[in-house]
Amino acid sequence: MTVPFWVAGKPVTGKATAVIRHSFDGSEAGAHHLPGPSDVDAAVQAAADVADEFAALPAHVRAGALDHVSRRLSERSAEIARLITAESGKPVKWSRGEVDRAVSTFRWAAEEARRFSGELQRLDTDPGGTGRLALVRRVPRGPVLAITPFNFPLNLVAHKVAPAIAVGAPIVLKPAPSTPLTALLLGEILAETALPAGSWSILPLGNEETAELVADPRLPVVSFTGSVPVGWAIRDRVPRKHVALELGGNGAVLVCPDWTDLDFAAQRIATFAMYQAGQSCISVQRVYLHTDVYDEVQEKVLAQVAALRTGNPREEEVDVGPLINERAATRVESWVSEAVSAGATLLTGGGRTGSTVQPTVLADAPEDASVLADEVFGPVVSLIRVSSVDDGVARINASRFGLQTGVFTRDLRTAFDLSARLKVGGVLVGDVPSFRADQMPYGGVKDSGIGREGPAAAMADFTEERVTVLTGL
Ligand code: NAD
Repeated sequence: MTVPFWVAGKPVTGKATAVIRHSFDGSEAGAHHLPGPSDVDAAVQAAADVADEFAALPAHVRAGALDHVSRRLSERSAEIARLITAESGKPVKWSRGEVDRAVSTFRWAAEEARRFSGELQRLDTDPGGTGRLALVRRVPRGPVLAITPFNFPLNLVAHKVAPAIAVGAPIVLKPAPSTPLTALLLGEILAETALPAGSWSILPLGNEETAELVADPRLPVVSFTGSVPVGWAIRDRVPRKHVALELGGNGAVLVCPDWTDLDFAAQRIATFAMYQAGQSCISVQRVYLHTDVYDEVQEKVLAQVAALRTGNPREEEVDVGPLINERAATRVESWVSEAVSAGATLLTGGGRTGSTVQPTVLADAPEDASVLADEVFGPVVSLIRVSSVDDGVARINASRFGLQTGVFTRDLRTAFDLSARLKVGGVLVGDVPSFRADQMPYGGVKDSGIGREGPAAAMADFTEERVTVLTGL
């Protein structure tokens, strides 16, 4: 079946269609209709036309819609997990986890929608303000253009759609060209709600058409998750828009000499270096091990990696599936060869079959090798020996990226010290950087982006303060 796209809450078919293929074996994952220029215009105009009505919609209606989406995602979770696996190649157990996260994101956004109230500010702190009081409310900045990447076809869509609904900002969603089917299925669930028709559209557009859409003045907010060059080019192109960027990273871990549970550290490092075949912006990519623990952790990481099962992501027991396409796998393979030529030791892996890259562990890669300096986005982790915690911090901070870092220490003072000194959006103490929860403000510094997500943070981002001063009180 060729599924429709969504314009102003309605399913629409077009003349052209696209087939989405499974990255593991090239089988058909599904097909969808492609919007044309008039569909795009209709979606954007509907968003602009409904903006005031949507902003004024009572919170209970918006929260009710979000609760409905959460419930229906849960009811359809097995089907949706299979679809995520089919279009992205993600092992099905991780796809189920992704649906669970989206269920929670919509539920959490519903709760935030009920709480989102603004604040009272007293003004009588100076004589001129006597008898005055300010109400500070947050109102939507206007319709949101949401652009999402391939690696979490539901979860990253949820992180934009749910907060937009929560604040009453119309949203035009543009999912990744390689994984649009889950987003289009979400449209079926959104269509069951009582949200105003123009308040949401889902347009599976190509990159060039999206670049044009970015400049459309009717969409004053652009919320982008994806790669570093595309993200910053968008911000440069539309400097007067409100642009939020959730971009790439080269996630680091630092294991301090006081950390004793090396089995746990090795298990977390191996799992989250290889989960989703490394295609997560907070995958473990660089592991800085204090020399006191280096040998033992290396041995344990290698044992953990050896136990991972690579193969068909539809199978329950598979841990590591393919990359999104063979081009990505060839690139990762060439980065590993480049590192080895530059002096790195290949401890395990390095091979490739089609779009699947073997889980790979490197040691002693030079800091300027792509596997350290760039975002690998593949199942490759590098172990690096450091002589001190300060040495580790300096190397982590030398990166041009700054999403999240994991720090294994049992010492509270070290934990606070490192969380102050590490130049990243989040520090995970006693764990790898790959954890994210909806309560957390999530995002990066430096090349990794600007702005924060998580329902509450994105709701703040999609709105601006409006002050009302009451006088004569
Ligand atoms: P990508 O940048 O190639 O594509 C992302 C989206 O941008 C897609 O929808 C694509 O169609 C669109 N796009 C491409 N060119 C465009 C242009 N010129 N103008 C407007 N839109 C354009 O990224 P990808 O390969 O799909 O995803 C992987 C990247 O996403 C990685 O760098 C990863 O780290 C990053 N990512 C970041 C986060 C985060 O929260 N920080 C989460 C997941 C992924």
